[in-house]
Amino acid sequence: MNRRFALLAFAIAWTACRAWANDSVKPKGPDEDGTKPALTSIAGEGFYNSQAFSYLTDLSDDVGGRITGSPEGQKAIDWGAAKMKSIGLSNVHTEKWSMWKGWTRGSSSAEMLAPLRRTLTVDAMGWTGSTPKGGAEAEVVTANLFDMDAEIAHISRFRGKIVLMKPEGVPRKSFWMLFAQYGDFLKQLNKAGAVAVIGGQGGFKAEGMHLTHTGILGFADDFAIPVVDMAMEDEGQLERLLESGKTVRLRIDVQNTFTGGPVESANVVGDIVGTEHPEEIVVVGAHLDSWDLSEGATDNGTGTTAVLAAAEAVVKSGQRPRRTIRFVLFTGEEQGLLGSLAYVKQHAAEMKNHLGCVVLDDGQGPIKEFQLGGRNDLIDSMKAFAQSLTNIREIAVNDKREFGTDTGPFILAGLPGINLEQDSPDYKYTHHSAADALEQVKPDVLTQDATILALTAFWLADRPERFATPWTPEQTAKMLRQKGDYDMLKSFNLWTFGDLGQEPSPSSN
Ligand SMILES: [Zn+2]
Repeated sequence: MNRRFALLAFAIAWTACRAWANDSVKPKGPDEDGTKPALTSIAGEGFYNSQAFSYLTDLSDDVGGRITGSPEGQKAIDWGAAKMKSIGLSNVHTEKWSMWKGWTRGSSSAEMLAPLRRTLTVDAMGWTGSTPKGGAEAEVVTANLFDMDAEIAHISRFRGKIVLMKPEGVPRKSFWMLFAQYGDFLKQLNKAGAVAVIGGQGGFKAEGMHLTHTGILGFADDFAIPVVDMAMEDEGQLERLLESGKTVRLRIDVQNTFTGGPVESANVVGDIVGTEHPEEIVVVGAHLDSWDLSEGATDNGTGTTAVLAAAEAVVKSGQRPRRTIRFVLFTGEEQGLLGSLAYVKQHAAEMKNHLGCVVLDDGQGPIKEFQLGGRNDLIDSMKAFAQSLTNIREIAVNDKREFGTDTGPFILAGLPGINLEQDSPDYKYTHHSAADALEQVKPDVLTQDATILALTAFWLADRPERFATPWTPEQTAKMLRQKGDYDMLKSFNLWTFGDLGQEPSPSSN
């Protein structure tokens, strides 16, 4: 063999080898993995025959606001199960779970008595208490939301006062750590004999115009002290009056009711059973429960009806995936991911057969990101799928973790909890407010989101290779520590990994 020929032979072999390596490593999208024809017919059903907006109208007007554990919450569960049955899902059923305590909103009102006299707009935060019947009069003092350590050190100064939460300076903690500490602060204020607290979600001021935003102030936690969110314009005036050294006095009257003990709720579940691996499951979910100041159309009527419409698009297309797609409407999300935590617990033995959970819960806008919940090993595979959607919508892929919705429990189970992040600039107004209504949702955007959800679910369930297997607790704990989630998860009692995932300390070797 002469040298020239040897070089040529080497070059050919090397090129072939490289091509083979590329072929085996490069993840396959719908164009290469055989799923494209089925996805095309699902897209046709999803875009052309969608009933998503009509379902959202039903949910808004036949059920309305639906707080977990309330009669309206139960009505929503019955509604969801009936819709799943009429769509033609298999094994439609509810899975009961129990919540530590129920809560019902009563009335709330506030009036400034001095230095001006005027009515103020307030609404109670969820799972918070009441003033004495007939209300109470007191002076308003501020507490710094960004330095609750200092405020707790002098907690007795809040006795007999209405406490106005105000962020001052720079936060020394992350949002979630502030959120966790706010709950502690509220309990200390109650012990110290404060009258009421003005401080909305996480203690922050409302988004205008003239809206209040309710919500829970902890994970599965309740607070005896009355806490209200106040319209930002009203709160702004109180702040200015206090800053100028004036004494501000209010009359505040808040009446809510807690149940004496636990209340029942249920997740709603229905399947499209897989043809080859029926035991392997892709969960597609959204939360059915909402707050009660309006209809919960954007939180999370959009997600709920997108899940139903996605199921319907697949069923009507006649396409059947290799693995099972399980559609789940979770409840108790608003009180701390309670329904999805219950699902993961009740299905613990089958978690090894789960491939992941896809969740839509970010308002009324179009989908913009697939967030893979810490599973960076899946980014390239998901990108191959996202690439196939570019004519519908440009969707980025990353491994961000979302613990503010039902993806959280699946991430903790080592699975890709896939959050479909949306481009929803108006969500800050509609979120938990009286503006969370059907008027805020555009039918074409909802249809697109529902169709993308259907395509994503089907592709995950039908691609020849299994998309994901759960990481071990060790792997998951390590990832979560590296990403900086340990303190937050620990403070909400969601850290279940003990010492797992710790880097060996240098001194120990
Ligand atoms: Zn939500």
